[in-house]
Amino acid sequence: MTEIAIVGGGAAGFFAAITAAERYPQAKVTLIEAAPQPLGKVKISGGGRCNVTHACFDAAALVLFYPRGQRALRGAFSRFQPQDTVAWFAQRGVQLKTEADGRMFPATDRSQTIIDCLVRAAEDAGVKIWMGTMITNVVKTPNGFRLSSKNGSNWEFDRLLLATGSNATGYRWAKELGHTIEPIVPSLFTLKITDPRLADLAGVAVKMATVSLVGDKKLTQTGSVLITHWGLSGPATLKLSAWAARFLYDQGYRGKLLVNWLPEVTADKLRSTILAVKTQMPQKSIHSNCPVLLPQRLWVSLLNYCEIDGFWAGLSNKKLDQLLQELQRGTFQINGKSPFKEEFVTCGGVKLGEIDFKTMASKICPGLYFAGEIIDVDGVTGGFNFQNAWTTGWLAGQAISLPYKTLHC
Ligand SMILES: Cc1cc2nc3c(=O)[nH]c(=O)nc-3n(C[C@H](O)[C@H](O)[C@H](O)COP(=O)(O)OP(=O)(O)OC[C@H]3O[C@@H](n4cnc5c(N)ncnc54)[C@H](O)[C@@H]3O)c2cc1C
Repeated sequence: MTEIAIVGGGAAGFFAAITAAERYPQAKVTLIEAAPQPLGKVKISGGGRCNVTHACFDAAALVLFYPRGQRALRGAFSRFQPQDTVAWFAQRGVQLKTEADGRMFPATDRSQTIIDCLVRAAEDAGVKIWMGTMITNVVKTPNGFRLSSKNGSNWEFDRLLLATGSNATGYRWAKELGHTIEPIVPSLFTLKITDPRLADLAGVAVKMATVSLVGDKKLTQTGSVLITHWGLSGPATLKLSAWAARFLYDQGYRGKLLVNWLPEVTADKLRSTILAVKTQMPQKSIHSNCPVLLPQRLWVSLLNYCEIDGFWAGLSNKKLDQLLQELQRGTFQINGKSPFKEEFVTCGGVKLGEIDFKTMASKICPGLYFAGEIIDVDGVTGGFNFQNAWTTGWLAGQAISLPYKTLHC
């Protein structure tokens, strides 16, 4: 009987354990979790609702949401992708619903629904779940792996899957077992900006804006931007933070951000719109008559910043140019980052080229497997990070009991 140890009772560990136990009823699958309760991150995910996956059912389109891991995930998603996740949960009685932006949640809007489903499925499949067991050491033996726990217990296993998320111990063992760890840096954070244009605007959201890091054309994102007490957040900012995770880390989270509050209007069209209003309502207040699709409070703030007041008739060409600049090419100083509490992941982890993405097996250490956030894959917000955990967990679970010659020939 193959003895399989899965360290880490998060999304990836549970999915791998259930898949392995269902696929190989003759194997003994043990899922080991340090915390007293499993699936801690699932519990708090998506503001307590758990954004399980994303309604993007084409592998080629799906990989574009992953700043790291695109190439490796292409084949993996052709084997298990969001449609399979939806079907997997449906088969176990959990319906997912899709929101307008493509994010998928349990129909109950409760992350506990996902936790209950995973725990029940694991128990039904015969997975042995050890809660409150912190593994402190992992050693390769001639026939497998020896695991030691905090209280001094030791166990021998034939196969080992590391699904320890962003925990430092998992990276340490992977390294000790011969793997390279791509440097770990935060991803998905909001940008700290202290600026009079944003002061007192916390809570104001602009549905469609473009944010770009000055000096690098590739680092531009478009979408909703939210002004917070700290600076800027919202989907476009978070996407930018993910794509620029390494760049911003290297810069010490300092840099210049270019904001276009009206990316759907060309510069010429914007100028002519404003000039038309100036001609049509010369005696009307500029503050009270915003001619573009912008929250009123932001409009007033930008006008104050440009020191524009009074009636449209009094708007000089110089002030018009300044206003146009603020509407479409405003520059802001980034002073740091703060974590996005809704979904925060790490960029970096076990080097992708050292893992066989058909099986999630280590190409370096026979019998070792990886799944989830421990590998150098991370996605933008929207359910993509859990999808990585489901997909890589499923692939590992499918393969973990296969003989090596099947794996490596
Ligand atoms: C607040 C928050 C909200 C999020 N919301 C979403 C969302 O809605 N949608 C989405 O797609 N992504 C979301 N994410 C990201 C998502 O949670 C992660 O990508 C995902 O949990 C990774 O799964 P994992 O199983 O690889 O790791 P984890 O979920 O981190 O699980 C790893 C497990 O390993 C255990 N462990 C670690 N070391 C040891 C050890 N030495 N011994 C025993 N056990 C150990 C840990 O206790 C943990 O339970 C969110 C993240 C955060 C922080």
